[in-house]
Amino acid sequence: MRQIAIYGKGGIGKSTTTQNLAAALAEQGKKLMLIGCDPKADSTRLILGGMAKATVLDTMRRKEEEDIEIEDLINVGFGGIKAVESGGPEPGVGCAGRGIVTAINMLEKLGAYEEDLDYVFYDVLGDVVCGGFAMPIREGKAQEIYIVCSGEMMSLYAANNICKGIQRYAASGKTKLGGLICNSRLVDHEIELVKEFAAKLNTQLLYFLPRDNMVQRAECRRKTVIEYDPACAQALEYRSLAKRIEENTEYSIPSPLQTEELEFLLEKYAGWQN
Ligand code: ADP
Ligand code: MG
Repeated sequence: MRQIAIYGKGGIGKSTTTQNLAAALAEQGKKLMLIGCDPKADSTRLILGGMAKATVLDTMRRKEEEDIEIEDLINVGFGGIKAVESGGPEPGVGCAGRGIVTAINMLEKLGAYEEDLDYVFYDVLGDVVCGGFAMPIREGKAQEIYIVCSGEMMSLYAANNICKGIQRYAASGKTKLGGLICNSRLVDHEIELVKEFAAKLNTQLLYFLPRDNMVQRAECRRKTVIEYDPACAQALEYRSLAKRIEENTEYSIPSPLQTEELEFLLEKYAGWQN
């Protein structure tokens, strides 16, 4: 069983990418569990054909811990994918990362990981890498991390911060970075920029995903592109990404950049003439 965490800035495309990737793997007969670690709780919407009825934290507010059963936490969606949303506190109260720690502990207690699974994916918000959000790395739950980014400054800034979190825990644990997934925002020279950023981080650009409005078309039907239009170009892209992940053997401990270095890199490509 491979346990993989997908990190990245909010809104960058983690959930879209993770669900399409999961759907592509499920299509090939792989058994998967997908754990949403974002208080937004929309990490499994495309797999389930709608928002999860309850998050782990909702269930825990509603039921005594001894009465909770695994079926209360897991919903089964497209391709038999097991979907879990950790959930979060009410806005303005408590710690956003707490849901992740609680959800993973509950799933472990109820034996969710003992089943016959090929992959477990964690879809984790990486704007702040506080203790809760670092949990999949800190406690070695995920052995592999991929970061979704684009050529936009804020997404690279967040990716660099996530690398600081990985670096902190990787030395003592077994979590390694498998690479960056660039989810294109049509920034000038985006591939070159993200490739150089990856090299400076001591990692690779694993895959470059084009921007495609097919994603929105599928999304408003609450579906992955893989399910909505399996033959379209973007579905092929997600299948190629799945293949890259399946076959990846390059892992590293990242070396985050200084802020000045990151700014210098952005300036270099922004200044390039077409
Ligand atoms: P995150 O989980 O990182 O917060 P989402 O996966 O929810 O981000 O993506 C944010 C929005 O970006 C989605 O509503 C989706 O429509 C859009 N999006 C993501 N990837 C693509 C893509 N490759 N092409 C077009 N739109 C995309
Ligand atoms: Mg998301």
